[in-house]
Amino acid sequence: MTTDVERLRAREPMAQVLQAAKPLIELAVAEDIGPGDATSEAILPASATLYGRIVAKVAGVIAGLPLAEAVFQRIDPAIQFAAHTAEGQEVVAGEVVAEASGPARGMLAAERTALNFLQRMSGIATLTRRYVDAVACTSAAILDTRKTAPGYRALDKYAVRMGGGQNHRMSLYDMILIKDNHVEAAGGILPAVERVRATHPSLPVEVEVRSLEELRQALGITPPVDRIMLDNMSLEQMRQAVAIAAGRVPLEASGMVTLEGAADIAATGVDYLSVGALTHSVRALDLSMDVTLPPHAGEGWGGVLSLGEVSDRALGARTAELRAALGERAVILGHHYQREEVIAFADFRGDSLQLARSATQTDAEFIVFCGVHFMAETAAILARPGQHVVIPDPTAGCYLADTATPGLVQAAWDHLTATLGDAEAEFTPITYINSSASLKAFCGQHGGIVCTSSNAERAIRWALAQRPRVFFFPDQHLGRNTARRMGIPLEEMLVWETGRAPEAEAIRHARVVLWPGACNVHQRFRPEHVRALRERLAGVRVLVHPECPMQVVDLADKVGSTSYIIRQVEAAPAQTQWAIGTESHLVQRLQAEHPEQRIVSLADVPPFCPTMSQITLPKLVQELEGLVRGEVVHEVTVDPETSRWARVALERMLSA
Ligand code: SF4
Repeated sequence: MTTDVERLRAREPMAQVLQAAKPLIELAVAEDIGPGDATSEAILPASATLYGRIVAKVAGVIAGLPLAEAVFQRIDPAIQFAAHTAEGQEVVAGEVVAEASGPARGMLAAERTALNFLQRMSGIATLTRRYVDAVACTSAAILDTRKTAPGYRALDKYAVRMGGGQNHRMSLYDMILIKDNHVEAAGGILPAVERVRATHPSLPVEVEVRSLEELRQALGITPPVDRIMLDNMSLEQMRQAVAIAAGRVPLEASGMVTLEGAADIAATGVDYLSVGALTHSVRALDLSMDVTLPPHAGEGWGGVLSLGEVSDRALGARTAELRAALGERAVILGHHYQREEVIAFADFRGDSLQLARSATQTDAEFIVFCGVHFMAETAAILARPGQHVVIPDPTAGCYLADTATPGLVQAAWDHLTATLGDAEAEFTPITYINSSASLKAFCGQHGGIVCTSSNAERAIRWALAQRPRVFFFPDQHLGRNTARRMGIPLEEMLVWETGRAPEAEAIRHARVVLWPGACNVHQRFRPEHVRALRERLAGVRVLVHPECPMQVVDLADKVGSTSYIIRQVEAAPAQTQWAIGTESHLVQRLQAEHPEQRIVSLADVPPFCPTMSQITLPKLVQELEGLVRGEVVHEVTVDPETSRWARVALERMLSA
């Protein structure tokens, strides 16, 4: 069942879909705007700017954001557009799908046309996803048809793919479909197949049959045809057809496939259900754009509007120019949770430790860290003399790291000493790499170690070989999940309460003391998300990060670091269904890079890391412009003493 499917599923890159959409955008602009927007031009000054948020009024699946962006850009290239969701991502009512900001006249002129494309395509993607979900407990796939709006085929079929469906033939030229009138004209099924094969030997061949007798004839053809369409057959006929075909040729159910009846049809064992309604009865997804003044008037929306100096060219092109100007003097590092437009310029992608290591393996003078502050600090600690680490937004911190300040940790350590006589004789401190340089130095000074989410177990084992107990900070979930996997019972773990120190007896009993910190992304995954996904998608594999709560980890199929999650998806066979519990930018990227798999976020509202998202393309441009001018604008440094001790703890991790 591969030949035709592979051909037909060959996905046009988004660039090709945009190319196909160009004339449609021109038509739409001509019919809607013509010589100008009479109202806005009369009322709004040319200098006015607006900020708009495209919001989903109902739950659905998003498709067409690049087209919406293209419309805004077509009307006024100064308009900045930022998608908040990936193509094919499910959104809930009230969710912000995208933001746009720029000259008010252009914003209002583009709004309707952009929404028209986006609503139609999202409507198709949403209906497709409903069908896909309806047959999810079988191996059947949902196909579209040629019943598309004239001129919109590439867009409609793209939207079907975003909904999780597959494309049937694109047009009459890319696949043979022999129907009853062809059979009649050729004098039978076999002669019809022979003729098309003689004329178009490379095209896949599908034959439509209306009875089990015709099916037997089609099955008797050698070499076998690529697919057989069962036209308007009853469920019982389809069951018999599946038994007769016995897997020799894939079967497609066609005609009267409704959403209500799809599961029953799929249960007969057919391989495909083709659904004309996906594209001929489109119900647009209800999306609207709320328009206001920019939220940070004068400063610009998230820094976007303040970049007037680059408004005359695409930011991406500007970034590429600056990047080229810096050459090997600079290296750009991008964390897996970064925005797509930023990570597109990363020379290295990775998790925090991979990126810090990448930095040490380069001779670049400038290490531009597109991540959060503690990561840039780690790179600065490991950097060689003469290397400068910069971060495009120095206020991009980490909620988890911020829960453990050096003062609070020192106070806890002092309390442990007061209770047990000498904390250092009893406890090995372990800090997760998601912590400040000061805490890494604390561990270095007190015989402790740094760990990552992939080596936490090794670090705890090492720590317990040094001293009888472990003081683990700042992520309680990583510490708890890892210790449990090692066989340490929950009764021997104690969660520190920063406002109220635990009783001495509780401390004496504890083998692992956990800091109460948690990542505000991963702690949002709940056990009910896992249960709901398992109900909705039979056979789904739940893959989560160990920063998730224990109850989620207990229900998951696989648990591991960001890199582990990526490796699992990369190694999985096509059609694997994943529900992934980690930051949404990474999940979106995996969806885009692995269209052969069905990947969804574990949460109904996929959580994203707001501090990571503070690194925007405009800020990266500003940083690179500074470097090109010879100014190191946002350098991250760590004082030599802190750096020395932090390096001790990091080196213990590397050699543990
Ligand atoms: S995802 Fe969590 S741990 Fe990572 S930077 Fe954001 S808040 Fe911190």
